[in-house]
Amino acid sequence: AAVVRRQMWKSGRWAKAMAIVNELEDKCGTPITRLRHVAEAMTVEMHAGLASEGGSKLKMLVSYVDNLPTGDEEGLFYALDLGGTNFRVLRVHLGGQGKGVGKQEFQEVSIPPHLMTGTSDALFDYIAETLGKFVATEEEGYPFPGRDRELGFTFSFPVNQTSIASGTLIRWTKGFSIEDAIGEDVVGELTKALRRNGLDMQVTALVNDTVGTLASGRYYNPDVICAVILGTGTNAAYVERANAIPKWHGPPPSSGEMVINMEWGNFWSSHLPLTEYDLALDTESLNPGEQIFEKIISGMYLGEILRRVLLRMAEDAAFFGDTVPPKLKIPFILRTPDMSAMHHDESRDLEVVGKKLQAILEISNTSLEARKVIIKLCDIVATRGARLSSAGILGILKKLERDNITASGGQKSVIALDGGLFEHYMKFSASMESTLKELLGEEIANSIVIERSNDGSGIGAALLAASHSTYLQAPEE
Ligand code: BGC
Ligand code: MG
Repeated sequence: AAVVRRQMWKSGRWAKAMAIVNELEDKCGTPITRLRHVAEAMTVEMHAGLASEGGSKLKMLVSYVDNLPTGDEEGLFYALDLGGTNFRVLRVHLGGQGKGVGKQEFQEVSIPPHLMTGTSDALFDYIAETLGKFVATEEEGYPFPGRDRELGFTFSFPVNQTSIASGTLIRWTKGFSIEDAIGEDVVGELTKALRRNGLDMQVTALVNDTVGTLASGRYYNPDVICAVILGTGTNAAYVERANAIPKWHGPPPSSGEMVINMEWGNFWSSHLPLTEYDLALDTESLNPGEQIFEKIISGMYLGEILRRVLLRMAEDAAFFGDTVPPKLKIPFILRTPDMSAMHHDESRDLEVVGKKLQAILEISNTSLEARKVIIKLCDIVATRGARLSSAGILGILKKLERDNITASGGQKSVIALDGGLFEHYMKFSASMESTLKELLGEEIANSIVIERSNDGSGIGAALLAASHSTYLQAPEE
């Protein structure tokens, strides 16, 4: 009788756990009709954000990039890429006249976490020091005596550009929170740090990572019209017709075009499938109420959403036994790369899942059944993010009237995609790509191509630094 009672109690817990899983699956559902609504809302918000400053949660920032690289860029340039978790320094030789990118060298360092929430000076001094060390390793030195080294600065946060080489920080995202930098010109902050560190360098282009990725994408392929980042954070940039930007009161660009940094991470629509876990994550985040699209899609958050679901299952359904595993209560302990590793576990006993639970959460002896449930949870959370990213891309294609064969005339549209989430989380990228095909339909699907960009944001910044070089316009000697 005791065995039977124990069995029944166990199955009661199991039923409770399954109810939590089913509810999550239901709330995260992204049927095609919902995705179409999201895409439609994205298009509407794009129009609103272009119409007036503050017209939408989508900032639709004017990048001041009105000419994309042509292949004529020539010379030795540098780039700094400050994004999510890492920070890169680059040195690039550009061949000019279609000769392409020659020798490139780079160095990548991770950003010490304390600098992400410290002071502006501390962050920019660290960047300048790293850059200084990098430049000091140059064997041949800088071949242009009397000139400053020129630099493209990829700064992957929302910035109100005031020119191609200046702009004020609107707010931080992705776990950064440095109060005294908000509202400051980030190029000014960097330049001061460069001077403090005795470096003769000047920033000639300030770009978002999406804009850099778009620039390098276009350099290699003239059909690139849009760039999307799916990494720690998420965002998109695309080429807009200048006369479709009512809020732009500057001089009309000669190209008739302007690159727009959408900051789509801050997109919100009532059609987004949000759960109690998302709402709690948002409330407890460094930027409550902001970046809601990003918080259900990007690499910084997917693992954290999973942790929150597992915690609920531990608390309400004793999913991991009678006590709640203490580690499970630590925010952000479960990282998206670990979630991805579990999700891709194809071993018979789901050993990877078992090992990750043990190593990260100190949970041992999970049953095969429980491990299967965890994979299912990974799938629910990742699939929602992937499918919503596709809906976002569809929104852009609709805005550009490239989502149907009649309007696009069969013209090819290439989307440059970068970011660790897209690159490493294969089930995520596979779901994203197949969903985009499904949304577009067979007729047009072949004209729309996703092209992986390999760290294009840095090269893109160097290319834009070159086309905006202050020495370029100097009279011939
Ligand atoms: C930032 C964007 C950036 C994106 C991808 C977001 O959190 O707001 O500026 O492009 O992350 O790095
Ligand atoms: Mg990056």
